Amino acid sequence: MADPKGFMTTPRQEWPRRPVEERVRDWDEVYVPGALLPIISRQADRCMDCGIPFCHQACPLGNLIPEWNDLVSREDWRAASDRLHATNNFPEFTGRLCPAPCEAGCVLAINQPAVTIKNVECAIADRAWEEGFTPARPPDRLSGKTVAVVGSGPTGLAAAQQLTRAGHTVAVFEKDDRIGGLMRYGIPEFKMEKRHLERRIEQMRAEGTRFRPSTGVGRDVPAADLRARYDAVVLATGATAWRELPVPGRELQGVHQAMEYLPLANRVCEGDLAASPLSAAGKHVVIVGGGDTGADCLGTAVREGAASVTQLDIYAQPDAERDEDTEPWPTYPKIYRLSAAHEEARDLRTAPSADADARLFAASTLHLTGDGGGHVRSLHLMEVDARRQPVPGTERELPADLVLLALGFHGPDREDGLVEQLGLTLEPRGTIARDDGFATNVPGVFAAGDAARGQSLIVWAIAEGRAVAAAVDRYLMGSSRLPAPVSANDRPMRV
Ligand SMILES: Cc1cc2nc3c(=O)[nH]c(=O)nc-3n(C[C@H](O)[C@H](O)[C@H](O)COP(=O)(O)OP(=O)(O)OC[C@H]3O[C@@H](n4cnc5c(N)ncnc54)[C@H](O)[C@@H]3O)c2cc1C
Ligand code: SF4
Repeated sequence: MADPKGFMTTPRQEWPRRPVEERVRDWDEVYVPGALLPIISRQADRCMDCGIPFCHQACPLGNLIPEWNDLVSREDWRAASDRLHATNNFPEFTGRLCPAPCEAGCVLAINQPAVTIKNVECAIADRAWEEGFTPARPPDRLSGKTVAVVGSGPTGLAAAQQLTRAGHTVAVFEKDDRIGGLMRYGIPEFKMEKRHLERRIEQMRAEGTRFRPSTGVGRDVPAADLRARYDAVVLATGATAWRELPVPGRELQGVHQAMEYLPLANRVCEGDLAASPLSAAGKHVVIVGGGDTGADCLGTAVREGAASVTQLDIYAQPDAERDEDTEPWPTYPKIYRLSAAHEEARDLRTAPSADADARLFAASTLHLTGDGGGHVRSLHLMEVDARRQPVPGTERELPADLVLLALGFHGPDREDGLVEQLGLTLEPRGTIARDDGFATNVPGVFAAGDAARGQSLIVWAIAEGRAVAAAVDRYLMGSSRLPAPVSANDRPMRV
């Protein structure tokens, strides 16, 4: 803390976003390039270095936030990078994508805007890459042990990097044609440009991690072979089995799952497709589901040139401020938030009759109707109360040429037959069962990330990847010095 009064003299200032009219015409990240570094040391100086840093406890990775805030305020970027990378393999991912439960737990947030922790994290990570503070770290010696990691999302990547650096020979199997999991096919470019992912994959290759894209375990490689060939197996296969909308008209053309829609837009950005076959261009789009996946559909549809976009949320509009009785500090409160995509959709709503927000809250879909040719034309909805009971007289019809379902996920995708081939035990909700030490019922097979925890966040995925790596290292070597930031039973404060 270079200035002990920083929190009194410096107001919170976030990394500015580019103007809406500019950013909706491209797929680049929404932030103003180069605008973060000049402001961030003063922002880090707002950290009070309070005696008990709740931010640190609220971060599943246990990021050493006050320590790196202090180092950034003193412009010691190398030391800040070392402290940050000691707990987080991929801070440039979380610095862009994390909902930052740490900021909800910041002591300053009791009566003032929190320190911009996520922005500080991102600045350290980006600066570290610019200055070459994060070279590849291949192991000094090999253990002679082999590990197969199935799935290349943030869980699999974090586990693979930790295990490779510990000296094990690690191969990452990925059924998609590119590495990255939902960070590759799912999360849009405007939230995180894929170059950040490529850079880490190159670093991991240089350290010795081997990647096997387009190789579905269960589909292209029998799961039993993997178990026989490797000393340990980590399942980090994610939870992408989507929830359905069981209403009349669901079968109409033009009604798609968010995860059928978003990866096609990713493929356009990758240069695989000239245009998405499901493009929203010129269409009235209705997104069913009020979460972040729905918001990603919103931002994508806006960029594709939709005629209108509406997002339906079954929950009532949250309050602007935290409810101290039900969600006291330092919990992560459910408050009204305007993401970059919501800001874009709002600013583009020019029709005089349009609601300011593209979201309709407390809205439940009744049915969909078609145009006679089997294509969706309208979505019919009504308002619901807090108990999700219909409010009489509130029926409404929205024009809809493209309906996107973003209703969440209920567990791992079972198509590849991996679960059956290995004889894995599942939890009642469909996730892979494991004990406290991440071990499944099959000896030598471990499970981590969304596949076992259920749909979660990048920060939890990285934390689980690090923790499962420690468990596997211990299984192979009898003991481990790898850090384990979470246990399999830890539950997040609601985010
Ligand atoms: C659209 C969307 C946006 C999101 N945005 C955010 C966000 O902004 N911030 C945030 O914190 N979280 C976000 N999330 C959640 C976050 O992406 C996930 O929690 C995280 O990616 C989980 O990581 P994972 O490695 O466990 O699984 P995944 O990222 O799902 O990766 C699993 C990988 O395993 C592969 N796989 C599956 N089965 C096999 C097999 N049999 N053989 C080989 N490979 C296999 C899959 O192809 C996939 O690549 C978002 C989720 C979605 C769907
Ligand atoms: S990973 Fe998320 S919770 Fe942890 S310090 Fe970064 S923004 Fe905060």
